[in-house]
Amino acid sequence: ASSRDGYSWTEKQGLKSGVPCIGTIQPPTNLDRASTEVFDVIVVGAGYCGLTAARDLTTSGILVADNPGSRLGLRTLLIEARDRIGGRSWSSDIDGYSFELGGTWIFWGQANVWREILRYQMQDELVSSYDFSKGLNKYILVNTERAQHFTHEEEDEMMESGLRKLVNVDGEYGKRVIPFPHTAAFTAEALRYDKMSVADRLSEIKDSLTPNELSGVEAFVLLCSGGTLETTSFFEFLHWWALSDYSYQGCIDYLVKYKFRGGQSSFAIRFFREALASGNLSYAFNSPVAEIDDTKDFVTVSTRDGKQYRAKRVISAIPLQVMNNVVFNPPLPSGKRTAASIGHVNQCVKVHAEVRNKDLRSYTGIARPENGLFYAFGDGTTPAGNTHIVAFGGQNGHFDPEDNIGTTARKLQGLVPMDIERLVFHNWSKDEFAKGAWFFSQPGLLSNHLGDMRARHGKVIFGSSDWALGWRSFIDGAIEEGTRAALTARTDLAPSQLKGKL
Ligand code: FAD
Repeated sequence: ASSRDGYSWTEKQGLKSGVPCIGTIQPPTNLDRASTEVFDVIVVGAGYCGLTAARDLTTSGILVADNPGSRLGLRTLLIEARDRIGGRSWSSDIDGYSFELGGTWIFWGQANVWREILRYQMQDELVSSYDFSKGLNKYILVNTERAQHFTHEEEDEMMESGLRKLVNVDGEYGKRVIPFPHTAAFTAEALRYDKMSVADRLSEIKDSLTPNELSGVEAFVLLCSGGTLETTSFFEFLHWWALSDYSYQGCIDYLVKYKFRGGQSSFAIRFFREALASGNLSYAFNSPVAEIDDTKDFVTVSTRDGKQYRAKRVISAIPLQVMNNVVFNPPLPSGKRTAASIGHVNQCVKVHAEVRNKDLRSYTGIARPENGLFYAFGDGTTPAGNTHIVAFGGQNGHFDPEDNIGTTARKLQGLVPMDIERLVFHNWSKDEFAKGAWFFSQPGLLSNHLGDMRARHGKVIFGSSDWALGWRSFIDGAIEEGTRAALTARTDLAPSQLKGKL
């Protein structure tokens, strides 16, 4: 089935909105019209966080040993605005090839992701985005219209040396500032670096960088943040670096190398199917939530189309960026509201091009300073034998790829000449249920508000990759948060369900 989301373009069909996706759920609900059930938990949002929470709630018992009244799994309603699961991670199969419209790469070093990959026995379904044996084995750095060619070994040396200068604030390449990357207990130095932007840091070290190192470092940081150098928290960049084993090679392995042959939707659907198989899952897609009212014994969730659902607990698994679209009653505390109105800075533009140039399979490159699409590489070979190039832009020189395909194609050509057969993309900035791509913070947001973002509000529990502790803003972080939210709800519900039975 097709989702409403996403765009594809070919010369023959022109620009089409909506692309095929195995994560599209039809029919959109399994609720009985007349049902007035009070659910144990309502989960709002069917991204990886909400899917993990719904799966854990529906398949695991409540947390009291030797309880004669316990049953396996809690009655859960999953409510989602879109017509599909996956949220910011979803893929489209077109002519036998998976294009990743959002979150893509995963790595065995990411503990939550890997636990789930093993659970669904998908360990042999990974492929590598990089293949440097297929032709144009080159890194092409386009700087003010001039293209320089390097080997990938030279690329690695340049990037490693530039990034090490950027992060070496402590003589230990960031290890002293962030000794434990999976905690909210920030060191005093970390707090200080969260007050700084990457632009601030670059102005301290710019004399020590060669012009090419500077271009490489800037492009890499902007690839990570999707913002501008001024809006990118230096601490959050150091955090990514720390998570990636404090090395450039680690960044490549963790951030951009391994993906599912069958796409992210082939992973997300396993969570959904397992929850469904429990018999405890109800769901309603195409149902944007408008209000969450927690002023009575049960929490009432109202959707835009006027339906109301009740539950003992609610897990809100919607992104920070769109939290203020929902009316909370009683109102959210001011720290949470402030964090939501600050939001994140990532306006990543991700464009896939299927191109006839076979040798580009081994290409990597950047274009600086203002090409709109500034970072790209060969990402696969389609069954037709064409090369798949993935290209990234962001807040710097931001554009909407669907507005003018000619312009989008020119920005791709600005990286490396290519003969385009097909384009595939999703406009995350114009997506009303995301309003941007993955979370990336501006200076000050995390040191002032990480605790606020993570806090519950009465019977409403908040989960999102956007405020995970470890792989914050990654799929792994969404699963971390879904696990935490489900556990919180189950712990809450255990005593009341067992009253009089113990
Ligand atoms: P989401 O996936 O955003 O899920 C939230 C859900 O809530 C959505 O389905 C949304 O429709 C729904 N919702 C919102 N508002 C409402 C409402 N009012 N009512 C009902 N439902 C609502 N991560 C990686 O690990 N590796 C990568 O390579 C990677 N690349 C990325 C590239 C792009 C372009 C993007 C956009 C993201 C990328 N990420 C990557 C990040 C990753 O996709 C996200 O961090 C993760 O998927 C977020 O999961 P989540 O469940 O927290 O939020």
